[in-house]
Amino acid sequence: MKLPFAECWKIKMVEPIRMSTREEREKWLADAHYNLFMLRSDMVYIDCLTDSGTGAMSDRQWAAMMTGDESYAGARSFYELKDTIERITGFQYVIPTHQGRAAENVLFSHLVKAGDIVPGNSHFDTTKGHIEARKAFAVDCTVDEAKDTQLEVPFKGNVDLEKLEACLKENGDKVPFIIVTITNNTAGGQPVSMENLRGVRRIADKYGKRVIFDSARFAENAYFIKTREPEFKDRTIKEICREMFSLADAMTMSSKKDGLVNMGGFIATRWEDIYEGAKKYEIPFEGFLTYGGMNGRDMAALAVGLDENTEFDMLRTRIHQVEYLAKKLDEYGIPYQRPVGGHAIFVDADRVLDRVPKEEFPAQRLAIELYLEAGVRGCEIGYLLADRDPITRENRFGGNDFLRLCICRRTYTDNHMDVIAAALKNVYDRRHEITRGVEIAWEAELMRHFTVQLKPLG
Ligand SMILES: *Cc1c(COP(=O)(O)O)cnc(C)c1O
Repeated sequence: MKLPFAECWKIKMVEPIRMSTREEREKWLADAHYNLFMLRSDMVYIDCLTDSGTGAMSDRQWAAMMTGDESYAGARSFYELKDTIERITGFQYVIPTHQGRAAENVLFSHLVKAGDIVPGNSHFDTTKGHIEARKAFAVDCTVDEAKDTQLEVPFKGNVDLEKLEACLKENGDKVPFIIVTITNNTAGGQPVSMENLRGVRRIADKYGKRVIFDSARFAENAYFIKTREPEFKDRTIKEICREMFSLADAMTMSSKKDGLVNMGGFIATRWEDIYEGAKKYEIPFEGFLTYGGMNGRDMAALAVGLDENTEFDMLRTRIHQVEYLAKKLDEYGIPYQRPVGGHAIFVDADRVLDRVPKEEFPAQRLAIELYLEAGVRGCEIGYLLADRDPITRENRFGGNDFLRLCICRRTYTDNHMDVIAAALKNVYDRRHEITRGVEIAWEAELMRHFTVQLKPLG
């Protein structure tokens, strides 16, 4: 008999969680104005809100924390981190920051000015925010395939090279750099192929532009390159990472994702001029160059986390779990962005709750139903998150309406996946009875989904 697949770790420490009653959840959710961000975490049984900073560290990471050097300047933990980053990426200049958006803030303060145009595959929301806050423009050159949730192609996160080249032809003088997000979070955690990264490099060289990788899930991207791009099937994850980053000039990193730590980020680059420029903003915004927003112990844990998470078995364990949940949804016929990506399942709420009008936010209604069903917290990545058009103030219904279920790294077992799937199936089985969504009672002008207050309809 062929042995089944199993995790490449065993569990040494546990944190109790508790299932609540439906009555409790109904009250808590009403008190939270039907916004799942407003729930206290102990009101949640299985938390799929985000995979950011929610993973479990290894015994080696906890041990490394005890060796952290908290010196203000020249900390040994910084140099350990720098050496690890250089070994994995080839970038010799490293600037630590307290998280990914801080890396964007420091680097873009140097590189982006008003009127600039920054093309990429799909900008993550904080990336777009840091570009638009500088009165510059983020241009998404997403492949059209990403819009069709049922289309199975291996690299739905790719940059559309024709759109990219058209953008550079038209506005080349206004483009400070090209940014490629690996994996493409906004398109559903979808990977970018090495072939596509090479194509981006060719175009960048032709127009004399630099390439930056927004690298939060670079290790997951390398796993997909290894398993889906035949040229790389016999290469190690670390070799693939080196090759990916050889095609970039710099990176921003949210270490809360593939760094396997709860907080942290960094900038890394091969160019002295980028390093010198960013340095000037690092000190006032984040702190001195050898800690910038991070404790010595946290840099020590990050160095170990980066090393562990660029090993095949670790990535296979993680992505196997996401695929395990996706297979269950296939069994039940529940539609999601296909093929499943690296860190989450994006349930196609528009298709599930097809009787709920767009104007009543179907994905938010689905998130509410799933929470009430079993205490599982997902996240609306849809029309609420899309905010209003800044000029017309109309809601933007042009994109997808997803319920995102993120899977934390090394945190839940496949039994928890079974609970998530069964809860979603129960909601799915009564989808035709759900005809109404929610209306907005109060909203902020920007990034409204975090604090919005809602009223259920019907
Ligand atoms: C999370 C994330 C960021 C921002 O990082 P934070 O650590 O949350 O500040 C930027 N880009 C991508 C692709 C991300 O997933």
